[in-house]
Amino acid sequence: MDIKSLPYEKLQEYVTQELGEKPFRAKQLYEWLHVHLARSYDEMTNLSKQLRERLAAEAPLTTLEKLECQISTEDGTRKYLFELPDGEAIESVLMRYHHGISVCISSQVGCRMGCRFCASTVDGLVRSLEPSEMLDQIYSIQRDTGERVSNVVVMGMGEPLENYDNLLTFLGMISDPRGLNISARNITVSTCGIVPAIYDLAEKKLQITLALSLHAPDQETRKKLMPVANKYDLSEVMKAVRHYGDVTGRRVTAEYAIVSGQNDSDEDAKKLGALLGGSGIHLNLIPVNPVTESGFVPPSRKEAELFKNKLEKYGINVTIRREMGRDIDGACGQLRRRRK
Ligand code: SAH
Repeated sequence: MDIKSLPYEKLQEYVTQELGEKPFRAKQLYEWLHVHLARSYDEMTNLSKQLRERLAAEAPLTTLEKLECQISTEDGTRKYLFELPDGEAIESVLMRYHHGISVCISSQVGCRMGCRFCASTVDGLVRSLEPSEMLDQIYSIQRDTGERVSNVVVMGMGEPLENYDNLLTFLGMISDPRGLNISARNITVSTCGIVPAIYDLAEKKLQITLALSLHAPDQETRKKLMPVANKYDLSEVMKAVRHYGDVTGRRVTAEYAIVSGQNDSDEDAKKLGALLGGSGIHLNLIPVNPVTESGFVPPSRKEAELFKNKLEKYGINVTIRREMGRDIDGACGQLRRRRK
């Protein structure tokens, strides 16, 4: 029984039907778990000792163990290495912006998507995370810093749309006013482009931001960088994200890691113009972050600026993303199941 993965209604069912307690006990319990971020039943002082003992026996409370926290000397970004209840390890990142604190969480242990520039996929996929394990990355970090997390990006290890049901449960719980109440508008989910799940997610009409990992201006180049392109053609992916934007009214963003000599030619800029110009999709450029196994090289700052200027001429709404935490391997595509 993973009690921290139960949304409010399910917890209420468990508390009243299985434990035979009054509904208000569910309210207390939910608050301890998802507002006070309790790490053990002993903290829940307004529950009777008897109930706490019964819960501890029937629904042991799991938490993440902080193994390590590296702090960037460049920008104060923190990278956490957490141990999961089964001994696996994941990484999460805290970033400070003037608008608040943003936490980047992992959705899986490892990843099976195989993107050639990304460290998270080097050892393949071990398993998907439970909703409680996604929540707990945020809870642990908020407890650790004592500061309120205002934004969440599901851009750590793993492909969130391959852990779709747990992702939906997580999104519902993290934005629940009875929990941490992080507004859906402050949540971004990034995907490499799992087409059927994008359509399904659109129907849920959540106010989250969808980010597409695009990384190439055409199908052929994309196939070289991202094996998932063999399954879903770029044209289908673009259709799906445009549909997502239309149905939800939310602006879609696209991520584009600039890899020197792979996807940053004049021709690439022109093709991107045709693909995105006037579409309302916002493009985030990221000079590719170093990953030992990939051997890919980022462009210089100046080259990146030039590429950006070309894209602007083609009518693309584009920014170069300020990468944070690079000195601690905490930037995009640098997270892994590192163990001590
Ligand atoms: N699987 C999801 C979630 C991971 S998000 C997805 O693909 O979107 C991590 C983001 O960092 C993705 O946009 C990914 O493509 C990007 N990324 C991976 N490796 C990178 C690297 N070396 N440099 C810059 N961005 C990278």
